[in-house]
Amino acid sequence: MGQVNKLAIIGLGLIGSSIAHATRRKNLAAEIAGYDSSADVRERAKVIGFCDVFPADIAEAVKDADLVILCAPVGAYKSIASSIAPHLKPGAILSDVGSVKSAVIRDVGPFVPKGVHFIPAHPIAGTEFSGPEAGFASLFDGRWAILTPSKGSDPQAVEKLRRFWLALGSQVDVMDAGHHDLVLAITSHLPHLIAYNIVGTAHDLEKVTEGEVIKYSASGFRDFTRIAASDPTMWRDVFLNNRDAVLEVLGRFNEDLAQLQRAVRNGDGKTLFDWFTRTRAIRRAIIDIGQDTAAPNFGRLPFQVYVPPPRARKPTKKKNRTAPKKPAKKTPGKPSRKAKRRRT
Ligand code: NAP
Repeated sequence: MGQVNKLAIIGLGLIGSSIAHATRRKNLAAEIAGYDSSADVRERAKVIGFCDVFPADIAEAVKDADLVILCAPVGAYKSIASSIAPHLKPGAILSDVGSVKSAVIRDVGPFVPKGVHFIPAHPIAGTEFSGPEAGFASLFDGRWAILTPSKGSDPQAVEKLRRFWLALGSQVDVMDAGHHDLVLAITSHLPHLIAYNIVGTAHDLEKVTEGEVIKYSASGFRDFTRIAASDPTMWRDVFLNNRDAVLEVLGRFNEDLAQLQRAVRNGDGKTLFDWFTRTRAIRRAIIDIGQDTAAPNFGRLPFQVYVPPPRARKPTKKKNRTAPKKPAKKTPGKPSRKAKRRRT
């Protein structure tokens, strides 16, 4: 697609707003319409300004759009599909970003009018933040986007969508929806379930106080808390809609955990050492293909240094290097450089 005349984004949270920012960055759409069921979200999105229009009516948002992307939690897709179906332009591409794919095809597929190309997609990119303020243009850079067209999908429409995701900065793969769900169950859904579980278990420990869990959190636990801070609605919907694949990998996980438990109980250092050596190699492989950084602590600062505000310090004649810079003088009516960057 490269260029679309009108792009409609339904759901203006992390992923929807990031698509809008990335589309703007590369000038991929003449017009972007953004719709969210929440008036508050629409207002906040309007203040940031990552779409051109923010209609309060979903039919208005998708009207005349060449590409419509559903970016709401997957549990809402069925009702969204039923309300937009009569308003979709013949020849339009209807896509989504849902973290599960078979259930999306089940829920949306029956509503897709003849002549509209339904091509589900899933960008493997995200953060633990949600809402319209969380989005940014580079979210998809170098990340994978998986398209899961059905056998009867129009190859030209698939190619258009593939080119759109490439232009957003992604690498693109095409696969069967069922296979996608199994792969993502192990690489994304199970890790989230484990994180939600371990943080919940730590919180429930009777002999360790909540204060201690927070105060003495080691880096391993902190990494789990980052994942466990992910949006509850989105993740509830993922587990409700990828039940079979998640239960399949959870079964295997439990068997492996029992094996590690036995090794710990029996003092079987060889099993533990061999296991940890194998998993360390997987971490290296992820870094080697550029999907993460080798920097310690994922490149994050170990902690933030507190710098007291200037007025709390002893007055000195020396130049105060910690004082905030004076804001640059702005010409009234002229957009700031930051605002300009946002528009390009
Ligand atoms: P998010 O930040 O919570 O944004 C979702 C937005 O959709 C919210 O503003 C929500 O409004 C709105 N919404 C809910 N129901 C709606 C409806 N019926 N019509 C229109 N808007 C509706 O979530 P997100 O992280 O962007 O996730 C969105 C989708 O991307 C999900 O399907 C998820 O599976 C997929 N995804 C997420 C990630 C990730 O890491 N977060 C990565 C890849 C794919 P309210 O807040 O008012 O409900």
